[in-house]
Amino acid sequence: MIHPGEETILVRYGEIGLKGKNRALFENRLMNNLGAAAPRGSVARIHRRQGRLYVDLLPDADSEDAIAHMSRVFGVVSLSPALVTPLEDAAMERAAISAAREAVASLETSAAISPSFKVEARRANKGYAKTSPEINTWLGGVILDAVSGLSVDVHEPDIRIVVEIRSDAAYVLGRTIRGPGGLPVGSAGRGLALMSGGIDSPVAAWQLMKRGLSVEAIHFHTPPFTGPRARRKVEELGSILAPWGIGFTLHMCHFTEAATAIRENCPRRLHLTIMRRIMLRQASALAQSRGIPVLLTGDSLGQVASQTLENLVATDDAATIPVLRPLIGLDKEEIMQRSREIGSYETSILPHEDCCSVFVPSDPQTTPSIEKVRSAESALPDFLLGDAPPRVDTLVFDQSGTRTT
Ligand code: ATP
Ligand code: MG
Repeated sequence: MIHPGEETILVRYGEIGLKGKNRALFENRLMNNLGAAAPRGSVARIHRRQGRLYVDLLPDADSEDAIAHMSRVFGVVSLSPALVTPLEDAAMERAAISAAREAVASLETSAAISPSFKVEARRANKGYAKTSPEINTWLGGVILDAVSGLSVDVHEPDIRIVVEIRSDAAYVLGRTIRGPGGLPVGSAGRGLALMSGGIDSPVAAWQLMKRGLSVEAIHFHTPPFTGPRARRKVEELGSILAPWGIGFTLHMCHFTEAATAIRENCPRRLHLTIMRRIMLRQASALAQSRGIPVLLTGDSLGQVASQTLENLVATDDAATIPVLRPLIGLDKEEIMQRSREIGSYETSILPHEDCCSVFVPSDPQTTPSIEKVRSAESALPDFLLGDAPPRVDTLVFDQSGTRTT
């Protein structure tokens, strides 16, 4: 039980509230993810009450830090820090003033010029001496006296100070921080993302994490043609995605032999398509060996030669499990914008060699036929055409983005 004087974070969630019988499953997943995302040693307990979650903080916890971490948890619509006070007038007045000050400080500058507020009392404890309208008037007056520049607006206030009267304490909150929405990671199953070092593929992974997919990634690299900088860049992207994914697993796959075999055995203008096919085949095999049912890529229709409809069809033909392409209908500009919001953009634009830029010709076939590609590919050694999972180096990042193995 949280005690008066301590802090709790109220967590509102939207869509997962609608999931009928599965609701408890979604809520449990969200509670687990919040617990994992919060800094170690900050959380005393997470519990649910009337369609909301409460994250009770330990007395020494840094609540701003905890909020910063939890506001990136998918499934969270918004968060509000709440002060828990005894049901005593002086303590409640202090809490109301402090909540109002915090809320004013957090306003966008446009609203902060002459902000308006209202107090909204909710009385779960009907034995409490004052009625809700009485509490609103009382604490509204206290805030008006104590915090300069505020005015009351009961219809469209910039700030709502919510005072919940429970049996043993009052919960006072004034500030709301937006979360990313979506569904809790893990609630939709698992996927394996093909991740290059570019802008698009980390966004694709993020986009489906947001819909509840727990995403791992595979990266194909071709040393010594691609250097350690290119590898480090992909590792950095893994670390950036880790807080969103409640941890992240990245499989590094040595692709030099495959790329060389393609260059030596297949028609030049089909190198790109065949390279993508081998990647999808190897990724399918790795996914299946790990019990993962889908792949995802950062393809966007028509963006580059490998992403014409014909090339996507010819590439997909080699996958043995479904391939999701969450960015298929987005423009580059929209993807770049999203990548800035995620925090991956600056890393993605660092100059690097990708195996595709090293190994593929400048004039790839944009409208290959599946038959031609299949027959050209049959010249490759068996190990590239079978369904054995490739050997990989697996790196694991914890939810703070630190590499653990
Ligand atoms: P990105 O910004 O994701 O690199 P891109 O615009 O460079 O995309 P392509 O190079 O055509 O596009 O790659 C298309 C998709 O193929 C990528 O989004 C990714 O899913 C996959 N892919 C490409 N190269 C690699 C690689 N070296 N390792 C793993 N996946 C790759
Ligand atoms: Mg790329």
